[in-house]
Amino acid sequence: MKSGGLVQSRLDRVVKLIAANMVAEVCSIYAMRAGEVLELYATEGLRPEAVHSTRLRLGEGLVGQIALTAEPLALSDAQQHANFAYRPETGEELYHSFCGVPIQLGARVLGVLVVQNRTQRSYGEEEIETLETVAMVLAELLGSGEVITLEEGRSVEGSALLPVRIGGLVLNEGMAMGRAVLHQWGIVINQVVAEDPEAEIARLDEAVGDMRRAVDRMLARMDKNLDDEQGEVMESYRMFAHDRGWLERIRDVINSGLTAEAAVERIKNDTHQRMMKVRDPYIRERLADLEDLAYRLLQHLSGTEGSSRNLPDETILIARTLGPAELLDYDRKRLRAVVLEEGSKTAHVAIVARALGLPTIGRCEGALSRIRAGDSVIVDGQNGQVFARPNQGIKQTFKASLALQEKRKAEMAAVRNLPAVSQDSVTVELLMNAGLLIDLPHLDECGATGIGLYRTEIPFMVRDAFPGVEDQQALYSKVFEQTGSRPVTFRTLDVGGDKPLPYLTMEKEENPAMGWRALRMTLDRPVMLRLQLQALIRAAKGRELRIMFPMVTDISEFDKARGMVERELAREIARGTAAPSAIKLGAMLEVPALLWQLDKLLPSIDFLSIGSNDLFQFVFAADRGNPSLTRRFDSLSPPMLRLLSDLTAQANAANVPVTLCGEMAGHPLEALALIGCGIRRLSMSAGSIAPVKQTVRALNVAEVTDLVQHLAGLRTRSVRGVLRAYALDRGIPF
Ligand code: PEP
Ligand code: MG
Repeated sequence: MKSGGLVQSRLDRVVKLIAANMVAEVCSIYAMRAGEVLELYATEGLRPEAVHSTRLRLGEGLVGQIALTAEPLALSDAQQHANFAYRPETGEELYHSFCGVPIQLGARVLGVLVVQNRTQRSYGEEEIETLETVAMVLAELLGSGEVITLEEGRSVEGSALLPVRIGGLVLNEGMAMGRAVLHQWGIVINQVVAEDPEAEIARLDEAVGDMRRAVDRMLARMDKNLDDEQGEVMESYRMFAHDRGWLERIRDVINSGLTAEAAVERIKNDTHQRMMKVRDPYIRERLADLEDLAYRLLQHLSGTEGSSRNLPDETILIARTLGPAELLDYDRKRLRAVVLEEGSKTAHVAIVARALGLPTIGRCEGALSRIRAGDSVIVDGQNGQVFARPNQGIKQTFKASLALQEKRKAEMAAVRNLPAVSQDSVTVELLMNAGLLIDLPHLDECGATGIGLYRTEIPFMVRDAFPGVEDQQALYSKVFEQTGSRPVTFRTLDVGGDKPLPYLTMEKEENPAMGWRALRMTLDRPVMLRLQLQALIRAAKGRELRIMFPMVTDISEFDKARGMVERELAREIARGTAAPSAIKLGAMLEVPALLWQLDKLLPSIDFLSIGSNDLFQFVFAADRGNPSLTRRFDSLSPPMLRLLSDLTAQANAANVPVTLCGEMAGHPLEALALIGCGIRRLSMSAGSIAPVKQTVRALNVAEVTDLVQHLAGLRTRSVRGVLRAYALDRGIPF
């Protein structure tokens, strides 16, 4: 604990400095210890004897709540708060106001920083931001491991039986509780260190023999049906099973004192690390084979080979990564949520999980090794965190949130059939985003007036080959059938980049989001677009057909696409297909370059749809899937509000309707701001329609417009706090 002492004195100085700078009587730092316990580590103002003695569980008290939700909390009278937990040894009964922020490194909460004052005062947004900045610096200190990993030689993760919290990226919102099922061959290694390396090597050799025989049997069964290429792949698999270098490396690790399982795991992780760096798809596949073999070897070592998929009733599926088909393979009725070690919002599995309504968290580091099969698990898809083996405090907080969620659901159901009209009689059109046939029944349930974005790429991504015109036509016909008389806007294929098609050879790209994707790709491979347009025209069967093109960057791209629609329409009419009653063509505004071509573009389009997910990432140069950037820039900020207001004003002047169909539309506070920017059509996932409708019905559009226009001119990083306070004051739900 030598360096620990040094850190302690630094923390003691920090709390003094903050207290002085913020004119606070108390400043305290709580650090997360083994077992998800927050321990008072340093304080100015509370009694010194409470240091290293006062402890709160995650979810317990205000400090526990901040760590649990990873959200700041400011209260003018903390003692009145339902979650206030009094600790007499601290002497904190003297202090009324309280402001705390999480100390976070990436998604991981390492502790909580708190200031307190005697008087009942409110802390301003700037003060909270100052505390958050200090917390960022503290995170580096706490994250260095000197403070929180040295307790009695035990790491924070500690023994496998302690509760564990893993932060991640929300891929689909929602909350769930259930039992962990580890996807594939998740094997828990209970013992890492071994005393007798020779015995471990003997166990390894025996398991390797078993595994080789099993692989040979498996290949013999398959050999008859293999073509040349598959045969080659399988042969390399067999070769790896007999690879000396691989086994030697495992033996070396055993000789350094690990159990056979831990050694295989270690080499497997090395392979995984290497795999992540390799670009060449061929070598990547080979390394994936080796990883797969390591899993098999672990099964043989632990005697769990061939275990069947007996899912518990409430399954929380834990996986490194999953293909969409693999997810669909599981019994939906038993699945409650999905937790992935990898994954991004645009990953195929995330899209399918959304369609299935499964709360999903990605980028949960080490989930497979830290969660054991059968563990009780809570998935908090509001705050992007997963708890394994949660303690009573966490369970209770979670149950309270779940009850609140149920109550809100009931309230939402009540607004389903009410119009989305504001207090001053402005109608806002609320549309639904969809991308799979299983989404469509939600259209009736959620009360949307139509589909503002139908993402056509998903069926293309889950197939083995490009679907022909008939297949596509059948699919689009079903969409038309189920939407009835409500409008539906189809977006042409937005594949490429990070949404590869398995049957299309694509170059590996440095920056896939800015690469060969969407309209760029379909204009270069016009047959793909032509087939899709034919299928859409045929499926419309005389109805109105709305089509929009993604990632339009240059006006000539839109003109080319329009030319193709016109040619396909003429061809279809010539072959006797009934023409749609009208064809409306729109451009998606996702690339900033289009903003300075609007005067030319607007006269040629029937509507404009803002893809705020992509637009935001390009405007702020901030990768939409990068968790380290999620809190840095805010869509509720002057540049974004000005951009959207100017753009909408131009479109209104040209009589071109504007829809916004990115994630922003589905968050009530963001929706309020968008309405203030002049946008009157919002398209969002089904679950967001009712909450956004509640917001619309409670607000006064004229007043919100004035406010948003004022905020758009401010010199501040984010206007979220002001909008939140405004909504709270007016009783507008968000
Ligand atoms: C967007 O970019 O906002 C959008 C709706 O498209 P996607 O999320 O499919 O890229
Ligand atoms: Mg987009």
